[in-house]
Amino acid sequence: MKRIFSAILSCALCVPLFLPPARAASDPVVRVGLAYGASAQEASRLEAADGAGWTVGEMRGTSFVSRETLSCAVLTVEPDGTGLRLVDADAGRTVYETDADELALSALGRLTLFGQNRYEGDFVCRNTDGRVTVINYIGLEDYIKGVVPYEMTASWPREALKAQAVCVRSYADGQMGKHESQGFDLCASTHCETYRGTGRATANSDAAVEETKGEYLWYNGKKVVGYYFSSDGGATEDAANVWGGSLPYLTGVPDPYENTAEALNGTWSVALTAAQAAEKLRAAGHTIGTVASIQITGRTAMGNVAELTVTDTAGTKVKLTRAACRSVFGLNSIRYSVSGGTAAAAPAASNVVYVIGADGVKRQVALSGCSMLTSAGLKPVTTAAQTTDTSAAGDSFTFTGTGWGHSVGMSQYGAKAMAEQGFPYDRILQYYFTGIEVR
Ligand SMILES: [Zn+2]
Repeated sequence: MKRIFSAILSCALCVPLFLPPARAASDPVVRVGLAYGASAQEASRLEAADGAGWTVGEMRGTSFVSRETLSCAVLTVEPDGTGLRLVDADAGRTVYETDADELALSALGRLTLFGQNRYEGDFVCRNTDGRVTVINYIGLEDYIKGVVPYEMTASWPREALKAQAVCVRSYADGQMGKHESQGFDLCASTHCETYRGTGRATANSDAAVEETKGEYLWYNGKKVVGYYFSSDGGATEDAANVWGGSLPYLTGVPDPYENTAEALNGTWSVALTAAQAAEKLRAAGHTIGTVASIQITGRTAMGNVAELTVTDTAGTKVKLTRAACRSVFGLNSIRYSVSGGTAAAAPAASNVVYVIGADGVKRQVALSGCSMLTSAGLKPVTTAAQTTDTSAAGDSFTFTGTGWGHSVGMSQYGAKAMAEQGFPYDRILQYYFTGIEVR
């Protein structure tokens, strides 16, 4: 749409009248990278959402220092030597130039359109080797309002959203400065947390943030990071079994609440030919010939996959452990079974039970619970024995599983189900994070 504005668009005005509203002093600022590295732009387009114009200046720490007011609505930020210039995108005229490699912009109406999204807060644009890096400076609580509805559906029960808000706040706090070498705190993708500004926020999702304002997860007197993921498919997992290290508040728990069948990508299968399996192993740095078998050779106490052994036709073995059991073959979770391509599909891991009959022979059965076994006079064998026999052979393999994500911390679908059953957000958090306090 053509916008009509005066030809002279840059005018220095009485700055204090146009300073953006002050942020609450207690709310720390998060610097979120929106375009950087490979996604830095040749030129960046920023639009003042209500057309009210801009103040341009610089950042001192996280405080905006105003230099000039610009009345145009749409700005293109372009590199200019080692400095930057601002072009009124409608008039095609340069309205501001600086030799500095960085400038700050603040929309007078507080809302900025950038890319497909709408953001509150200030913007910093930096000339990074002839491309424009764009960083959003946003108060922590507003940042959380811009994450919660992108990480969880905004119409879900309030208590689930509140649990999510505390996780987002705790995660942001614990990971602050993760991108310090690139000049900001957090990126806007799933690498950190998905942040897209105000577009999806609702009264429900905003209230979840406001009702938990300033609340974090604490363990042993220290703030801890609130990890979360979509669904666990039956049980979460110890961080030690996924990432290594020891974080006692991140201990796996069985999940009787989550409705995995309802969860997005909660049930899944992945089929790979032997050649595709070998290719993925080589891409992950392993040496392997023609894949002959893929076996689950270890499960955790929670029944998730702890070790996957791949054997080639020459007998060479590659063992995958922890997160590699999911990542190398591109699987949704660590809760699965594997079968050969020519064999009938095996039931999902959660339904696979081995029994020893009166004749002493071990047999695989598919049951939903162990009570049927004892009533039939059969004895379930140990988890370890279950797993070493899960084998596959042939020229293709099918992984069949439940859950989506890394399985450490809070299941989002589990939180939804607990909220639907009447659990308040702090009880939900205390279920998924062992021994924590919410305060
Ligand atoms: Zn990141």
